[in-house]
Amino acid sequence: MGSRAVEFYFLHQSKPPIVAKNLIKVIKWIDLCEIHPGKLKQEIVMLDLDHHQTEHIFRASGLKDAVMKYGQEMSVSPSSVRFDLLTKCTPLFERMRSLAADHFAPDADHIISLVNDYERAITDLANLSSGQITEDHRDGEGYCPVCGTRITRVSARVAGFSDIIVCRTCSEPYMEFQIMLAAPEAFATMFI
Ligand SMILES: [Zn+2]
Repeated sequence: MGSRAVEFYFLHQSKPPIVAKNLIKVIKWIDLCEIHPGKLKQEIVMLDLDHHQTEHIFRASGLKDAVMKYGQEMSVSPSSVRFDLLTKCTPLFERMRSLAADHFAPDADHIISLVNDYERAITDLANLSSGQITEDHRDGEGYCPVCGTRITRVSARVAGFSDIIVCRTCSEPYMEFQIMLAAPEAFATMFI
């Protein structure tokens, strides 16, 4: 998101989110290609690494991403594996709520309500088909036994990272809250 887009977003909010104080503008120079040599100036907005709030935003990002990865694995797993993954998500949601209460006032109530919705969506994903799913698509092959969508594999293309294997359709409900929690009036992780 460029700085103009961020400013537009802030202008149209009823109250400026607390994270606005934590953002700095950075000028970046982009090297143009050989056909049009030269440099292009671009303004971007990023978190001020010296600001005291930044470490909490990074912590929130780690918790959110861990839940999202469990959600992705759940969406292609048999029910027994989904239940195991759900138990791993429970303490992460707890930590998100504590983090919001301790460090994200005055947006804490809004964030906690989103975290509750996120947890409900992940619990629903674990319980799909009344907990009777036996098919295992963690190899990235085939079709989802719940919704019939072809399983998606996104190549990581980076050494040390594994491919993302997911049912995109079954993941839509929880991804909505993953995205909403990234907004400036929530955990503001979109600026990382
Ligand atoms: Zn599905």
